[in-house]
Amino acid sequence: MNILSLTCKDLAAELDRLHGKGHYHARALYRDVFKLGRRTCAESPEFADAPTLAAQLAADLRFPDCRISAQHDDGSVLKFITTLADGETIESVLIPDKGRTTLCVSSQVGCRMGCKFCVTGQMGLRRHLQVEEIVWQLYAARFVLKRPVNNIVFMGMGEPLDNVEPVIQAVRVMADQRGLNLACSHMTVSTAGHVDGLRRLAAERLPNLRLAVSIHAANDALRNQLVPLNVRYPLARLKDALLAFPLPRRGVFFIEYVQLAGVNDSPEHAEALARYLAGLPVRVNVIPYNGGSSRLFVTPDRARVDQFCDALVAQGLFVRRRHPRGRNVMAACGQLGGVIA
Ligand code: SAH
Ligand code: SF4
Repeated sequence: MNILSLTCKDLAAELDRLHGKGHYHARALYRDVFKLGRRTCAESPEFADAPTLAAQLAADLRFPDCRISAQHDDGSVLKFITTLADGETIESVLIPDKGRTTLCVSSQVGCRMGCKFCVTGQMGLRRHLQVEEIVWQLYAARFVLKRPVNNIVFMGMGEPLDNVEPVIQAVRVMADQRGLNLACSHMTVSTAGHVDGLRRLAAERLPNLRLAVSIHAANDALRNQLVPLNVRYPLARLKDALLAFPLPRRGVFFIEYVQLAGVNDSPEHAEALARYLAGLPVRVNVIPYNGGSSRLFVTPDRARVDQFCDALVAQGLFVRRRHPRGRNVMAACGQLGGVIA
C-alpha cells in the first residue's frame, strides 16, 4: 500500500480488501501516518488488541523512496531538493510570510511546455511525478523539516495540468481532514493554459481549489513565442475554458504575468490584457522576470514595474506585484532546476 497516495476512504477500502477490516482501523492508521508522522501503527490504542493486524500493516505499508538530498536557505525562503527512487531530483520551496507558510510543490521532473523565460522549461520533461511523490513534498515539509505549512501552490517544476490525474488525487490526499487537512481553498494549481487539463479539473469539482493562469501576453503572435503551448490552445480557446470553469461564489482566477522588459510591458500590452480578461473575475499578479542561468530577457527595474502595474490599474484591473524572493538560491519563480552559482 502506497500510503501517501491514498485518502482515508481509499485506505479503508484497501484494509477491507486485504484484511476484512474497515474504517475504525483505517482512521487510526491514517491519523498516525498523516497527523503524527509515524510509519507504523503499533503504538496506537486502536491496535492494542490487534497486534497481528498491526504487524501485517507495518509489512504492507510503503512510503515513497524519497529523501531530502540538499537544502538551501537564504533567510527568506528554504528550497529543498528531493532525490527520488530512480535518482531524479525535484525541488520544493518553503516561503514563510506573516506567520503563514506556503509550500511550492513540483508536479513533474522538468516540463515539456518550453516557455522561453523558464529554467524548468529548458530541461524538457524527464518524467511525471506519481501521487505519492507530490504528497511527499508536504509530508517532508511537515515531518522531516518540521515546518508548519498552511498553503500549497503548484508552482514548482512542471505543468500540473499535463499530469492532471495524479495532481487531482494529490489534492484529495492533501485535503483529507483525517490526515494532512489542507483545505482546497488554500491550494492553488497554476497552469500555462492547458485547456484539456482545465476541463478535466473542472469536471472534478474540487470545491474552492484556486486556479492561477499564466498568461504573459494577450495576443497570440507574442504568446506563441513565449508560451509554445499557446499554439495548441490559443487565447480564445483558453478564455472559453475559463468562462466554463466552475468558480466558487466570489471566486477569482489569479492571472500570472511575468514582466519581460521591452517585450510584453508596453501600454498597448496592458490594454490588450485588460480586453482579454474582460468578463472574467481576476486578480493579476505581475512577476518581474527572474533571470535564470541563460538570461535571455531583461529584468525590469522597479520604476518600469510600477509603470506597467499602473497601466493595468488604469485599465480597471486589480493588480499585485510579486516581490522576488529566493533569487539567491535559484528558488524564485521559473528558476527551479537551475544551478546555484
Ligand atoms: N507550469 C505552471 C506552474 C509552474 S511555473 C505555470 O506555468 O503556470 C510557476 C510560475 O512561475 C508561472 O506563473 C510562470 O510563468 C512563472 N515563471 C516561470 N519562469 C519565470 C521567470 N524566469 N521569472 C519569473 N517568473 C517565472
Ligand atoms: Fe513549464 Fe510553467 Fe516553466 Fe512554462 S513556466 S516551462 S509551463 S514550468
